Formats: sequence, C-alpha cells, structure tokens
Amino acid sequence: MFKKIYSPVQKVSFAPFNHLSVKRDDLIDPYISGNKWRKLKYILAKAKAGNKTHLVTFGGAYSNHLVATAAAAARSGLKSTAFVRGEAVKNEMLLLCSLFGMELIFTDRESYRDRHKLFESRFADNAEVCFVDEGGASVEATLGCAEIIGELTETYDHIFCAAGTGTTAAGLLKGLQEQQLPTKLHIVPVLKGGAFIGDEIARYTTTDKQLELHLDYHFGGYAKTTPELIHFIKTFTAQTGLLLDPVYTAKMFYAICDLEKRGQLHRDERILAIHTGGLMGLFGMRDKF
Ligand SMILES: *Cc1c(COP(=O)(O)O)cnc(C)c1O
Repeated sequence: MFKKIYSPVQKVSFAPFNHLSVKRDDLIDPYISGNKWRKLKYILAKAKAGNKTHLVTFGGAYSNHLVATAAAAARSGLKSTAFVRGEAVKNEMLLLCSLFGMELIFTDRESYRDRHKLFESRFADNAEVCFVDEGGASVEATLGCAEIIGELTETYDHIFCAAGTGTTAAGLLKGLQEQQLPTKLHIVPVLKGGAFIGDEIARYTTTDKQLELHLDYHFGGYAKTTPELIHFIKTFTAQTGLLLDPVYTAKMFYAICDLEKRGQLHRDERILAIHTGGLMGLFGMRDKF
C-alpha cells in the first residue's frame, strides 16, 4: 500500500532545539492554505457526491477559510458565496475571493451570529447549495486533518498545532488515536478564553488523555499581536527561512520556545510543529512590522 503524502516534513535548526521538525502544510497550495486544504478535502467530496453546485460559507474579512473555499470551489467547478462579518471593506484577501468568483455578502455582526438563519434567509429550499460552517468546522474536516498523522513516517514525543475553532486539533487527536501513537498533542488556542477548544475536540474524539491545551499564548486574542510576537517572527524567519503568520503559527512556535524555557519541554525531545499555512495573514498586519 502506498500512502499519499501531501506535504513534506522539514527538519529545522533553531536553538536550542535538537529535533525540531515542521510539517509543511503551508506548501500544499498558495491559496487553499495549509489546514484549510485538509479541512475542505472531504467537505468538497461530500458536496460533489450530493450533487451540490454551490458552496455557501462564513468568515471575517481576513479569513483564510474564505480564500481557500473560493479557490477550491472555482477549481472544482462550484459556485461560492460568503457571508462576510462586518461592514463592507476591501482588502487583499477579499480581492482574491472575488477573483475566484466568490459572491461576498457583508453582514452586520448581529445577524452574523445566527449562521443557519442567515443561510435560510437566502438559500432555503435550494437542494444544490451546501452549507459550510465558519472555518469549515465539521466531521469531514476532522477526517482530512487526521490524515496529517497518517502521513508521518517518524514518531515524535510532541506535536504542536495552533487552534481557532479546534477542528484541526480534533482531527490530529483522532489521527493519533487511530494510529495508537502515544505522542502528546499540544494545542495553542489563538483566541482569548480558548478553553472551549477542549469541548470542541471532545465532540469528535473519545479521550483527551494525550491532549494538552496551552491557554496563555493568545497575545491579547484573535488577530491581536504584541511587539514581542512581531520580534519573534522576525528572529525566527531570519534564522530558519520559514515564514510565520502572526495570527496562528507564530503563537504556536512562540509557545514551543517558551515551554522549553520553562522546563516543560526538553531540547532533545522530538518535536513536530504543524505549519498550518495562513501566510496571507501577514499582509493584514503589515503596519505592525
Ligand atoms: C484556520 C487556521 C487555523 C485554525 O484551524 P482550526 O481548525 O479552526 O482550529 C490554524 N492555522 C492557520 C494558519 C489557519 O488559517
């Protein structure tokens, strides 16, 4: 049996770590970035199997998920629509969405809260339309993310991943459980109050005994940053040649370094960081650099 491997694992030399590797999901595709590709894989398959012709989804104006969905839909011959949270704006991400043919419906924050109601208001009784939740959160998404673990050819003491909704984290944990690997899974929520991620993961998995949530690396919350985090990105990228996005992957790598300093990780342990992509997030924060 050959197993299909969609992204390489790269060894990275970054002091003081002796065995730091990175799963380069950021290389899978420039627009269907990283974990969004994993998450959409089975969502698209299910949509196609159900004869859907149109994906409808939700996100903020800087959402990687929107660009990924727009690109994936265009390549699969599907139409796409997004309810975009907040007032009408123009930016690089929404430009890409439009170029991929996505219809953008700007939605006030109040109405945005009830996504099913929004969907019904516009697409009720249309059997060809497929509801894709914010960030692609779904069982299908966890199946795609579990495959990250199936692709690994080495074993690790620790795997690290950043979390927004926690769907990718749930998939990784599911993958570890399926393969019966004892690797510890460390999840770094990028939102303030990320403890809900534990409940989200529990919805899809049977036990959380290998799971550790690190709640103190949100740097003020989603899409928030600090001069310290920006400095970290500059240092890390200059030393490794790997780009990080300030919203997700920088917070994860910062956590890895900080946990080592606190003695909770050892430099000789085998650590795998999942690079979930999202590099376009850099552009939304160019003023911070
Ligand atoms: C969306 C995203 C995540 C978060 O994934 P969840 O499954 O929502 O937890 C992590 N990293 C990047 C780069 C993302 O774009």
